[in-house]
Amino acid sequence: MTRLYYADAFLTEFDAQVSEIQAEPRPAVVLDRTAFYPTSGGQVFDTGWLEVNGARTRVVEVAEQDDRILHYLESVPAGVVAGTQVHGSIDLPRRRDHMQQHSGQHVLSAAFIRLFEMPTVSFHMGDEVCTIDLDTKSATQEQVERAEDLANQVVMEDRRVDIRFVSLEEARGLGLRKLPPVEREQLRLIDIGDFDLTACGGTHVRSTGQIGAILVRKTEKARQGVRVEFVCGGRALAAARRDRVALSEAASVVSAHIWEMPQQVRKLADEAKAARKLRSELLNELAELHAGRLLQETPETNGFHLVVRAFPDRDLEFIKLLAQKLVRSEGKRAVALLGAGEGSPALVFAQTAGLPFDMGALMKEALAASGGRGGGSKDMAQGGVAKAEIIDSVLAKIRTTVL
Ligand SMILES: [Zn+2]
Repeated sequence: MTRLYYADAFLTEFDAQVSEIQAEPRPAVVLDRTAFYPTSGGQVFDTGWLEVNGARTRVVEVAEQDDRILHYLESVPAGVVAGTQVHGSIDLPRRRDHMQQHSGQHVLSAAFIRLFEMPTVSFHMGDEVCTIDLDTKSATQEQVERAEDLANQVVMEDRRVDIRFVSLEEARGLGLRKLPPVEREQLRLIDIGDFDLTACGGTHVRSTGQIGAILVRKTEKARQGVRVEFVCGGRALAAARRDRVALSEAASVVSAHIWEMPQQVRKLADEAKAARKLRSELLNELAELHAGRLLQETPETNGFHLVVRAFPDRDLEFIKLLAQKLVRSEGKRAVALLGAGEGSPALVFAQTAGLPFDMGALMKEALAASGGRGGGSKDMAQGGVAKAEIIDSVLAKIRTTVL
């Protein structure tokens, strides 16, 4: 089986013969020669089409299995047998993207080695971003930027990228950045003119200019050291564009330039924090005033004040606060049966410690009648009800239990 992509990564049309057909578990064919790249060495598979007897079928995935390259198809066209002639076409935009990412990875990995002796121990190409793991305890932002700069300088110098085949013996004397884990008689080397030489089976650009920009997006601690997330070429353009759109949208909200966004966001966060603090102070004061007035309006009977009140425009947070003020008012004992209609309609029942009722049980009773959820202790309970409209009738019913 001939791997056509080994010699020419820009070959996207080819003829071949079917050598094997597989129906289960997924339809696939093996060809005597192929330009389709199977997932390996961190690079993901090509997609494309196979044309058989004038009918085109989509190649949805390509994988290597026991030295065979399986082309998974949407379906195996009728009449295909071993020996059938097929014409293959590679999805070029996808291949080009993979070449940009993979060649970019070689350049970036070499830059980290050259500048800081940080070897790359793994490479992963995702649908959106790529990562390399560097074998190092840490990498500063300055180091990462210097490696990024050097990598982009190599791109701008538009150095040649050559494919070379050498014996393992020869390879040992060449000072490769990376030797493959499995011993092969012949090694395929990717030679980035006077910058990087490494054994690799992937598809690569012809010269570094074709990589386009190499853009680091993130660094983080990883199990194997430091993980560097990056994108190259078309992906770098797409990422920068997306950043600009997101930042511009945010900046227009606060009428600032995108570069002023960090200060603006910090300022907004500080203001929001101060506003939250003020609101909570005001709410506390308001609850205090309400509690005083309600206790005054409600005459004491049987040794306590029974305050029953629904607040259509207040929320659970407020009636909880109010209940606390009511039952902890100095020198007074109270039972508070409160409802809130704002947000999620809710009930809060509370009593001054020492009073004989059971708020948890009352809440259960109230919720059983209204179909809500909640509970609590002997002195304090809360629950949510389905509709604000039923709060008044529920409170009136529980009131009769306490009186
Ligand atoms: Zn590689």
